[in-house]
Amino acid sequence: MILKEHELLQIDEKFICRLREQDPDALAGLSIKLVSDLKEAVERLNQNPSNSSRPSGSLAPWDKGIVNDDEEVDVGVDDIDDESTIDEKKVLRSETGLDKEESLDTASTPEEDSLQSKESTEQRKPGRQSGSQGFGRTQQLAVSGTTHHACGSCSACNEDITAVEKAYTGFHTVNIEFGNTDSPGVRLINIRHLYYRGRCPKCGLENRTEPWRAPAATADWKNVGMTQWRLIGPDLAALIVYLSMDMRVTRRKVKQFLGDVLGLNLSIGTLQNCIVESARALEPVEAQLIDDLCSASLMHADETSHNEAGKRLWLWVFITASTALFLIGRRTKEIFTHLFEALTDFNGHLMTDGYSLYRAYPKRLRCWAHLLRKAKGLSESYTLTSQTYGRQVQDSLNALIDAVYQAREGPDRGMVSIVAHHQETLKNLRKVCEAMAASSHKKTRELGVEFLNDWEAIFRVLDYPAWPLTNNEAERALRHWVILRKITQGTNSAQGSRALALFASVFATCRLRNSSPLVYIRDVIHMRRQGQDVPKLPQIPGLVAA
Ligand SMILES: [Zn+2]
Repeated sequence: MILKEHELLQIDEKFICRLREQDPDALAGLSIKLVSDLKEAVERLNQNPSNSSRPSGSLAPWDKGIVNDDEEVDVGVDDIDDESTIDEKKVLRSETGLDKEESLDTASTPEEDSLQSKESTEQRKPGRQSGSQGFGRTQQLAVSGTTHHACGSCSACNEDITAVEKAYTGFHTVNIEFGNTDSPGVRLINIRHLYYRGRCPKCGLENRTEPWRAPAATADWKNVGMTQWRLIGPDLAALIVYLSMDMRVTRRKVKQFLGDVLGLNLSIGTLQNCIVESARALEPVEAQLIDDLCSASLMHADETSHNEAGKRLWLWVFITASTALFLIGRRTKEIFTHLFEALTDFNGHLMTDGYSLYRAYPKRLRCWAHLLRKAKGLSESYTLTSQTYGRQVQDSLNALIDAVYQAREGPDRGMVSIVAHHQETLKNLRKVCEAMAASSHKKTRELGVEFLNDWEAIFRVLDYPAWPLTNNEAERALRHWVILRKITQGTNSAQGSRALALFASVFATCRLRNSSPLVYIRDVIHMRRQGQDVPKLPQIPGLVAA
């Protein structure tokens, strides 16, 4: 939108008639801006899930249509109050010089009022309390630069108003500046942002610039505002996220690190706020991840348990050679069905373990490592037939693995199909599995049934020996987050889980693409705080979707 609400309020019939008298060309210019804004507003009105970008609405696609039988009311350390409008103002007020020059607008905006009144009616939350000690009361930093957000020209008539405009409000942003190859290192900077207003001498419109603010918190991001008015700058925010997620540093230790290394005192609540806001900023990246996953020919899927405020949930990963998508949810059919609705364009093969839900997907590959592990277990059992069965499965699979490896190496081996060459092995294995599917020994029976259920998925790789035999990719991708789970004991709310999954997806994808997640997350935060779209994920040069 070109015209701000504040400016639009002043434009009425009288204003337009006056402008027509003064400068008809300026009126034409204003009409063009108004039409452009009107079109944008109408388009926004007409937006619905079928014509706007995925994931639509406020819920993740895999959560849609699921009856919420456990309505979230928990407030954990993942839920934070908005520190910025309080602390940042304190910082600003304590800045001498600014107050002398300009009378600062210290009245709260309606948004801030509603936030503050909400805080007072809610129960005490973990994390920083409003009124507790935070940055601004304890620390004064020298101002290293000022960014002037001036109007320049009048929104209505384009008249140059630089001479009459004055700063009316502002805030400070603490950020870090990365050095370059000549002068490496990290420097802490404190930038003063000033916003200007001024009455146009020609048409009388009072123009003003305002820090951008996200229209409203969505259902997924309760109390998580997104705005330019932030104490922590995008580079520092990205560093905090990087330390917490990629380096697996606890909030307390991040606070300690920033104090020891940068000499910056930030409260745990401020850090927490910054992390959740960054997660909200990353949310639209998911649509890009889904598109990229869909274009792959091979995808791995796996899941591991996740603890959310004492509830047992699952952390899922869907990973291709260059993209990873993490989700946290229940291990139910709904989640899987809805995920595949989101991944409806995916037409490649899916590598999984034996978990029955995956059977819904027809073009599936099975991880052989799981089968070999089970066969080894049987070969060490105390039942003679189970021992023999276990050994036969091991021998058959090992022979076939050798064949796959040979096929990968030599071009001439491709002439004879592995299936044709090992017909006898496969026939005998099938026969013994059919017999064992009726065994009275539980584990033996289970493995027999598993082979019969998944026969095609298990041996599909024999026709495509270049494909993997194990689900290592997915298991490796989960490992980092399993360690983080052990350190943090999981998440405390649905919002915290959503944030964790978003971070995991972006970090893993950037790593797969040999690109710095720190830089990408910085760019996302920077753009989103100004109301702009997320930048494109780093691409692998020369990578063509198969
Ligand atoms: Zn004007």
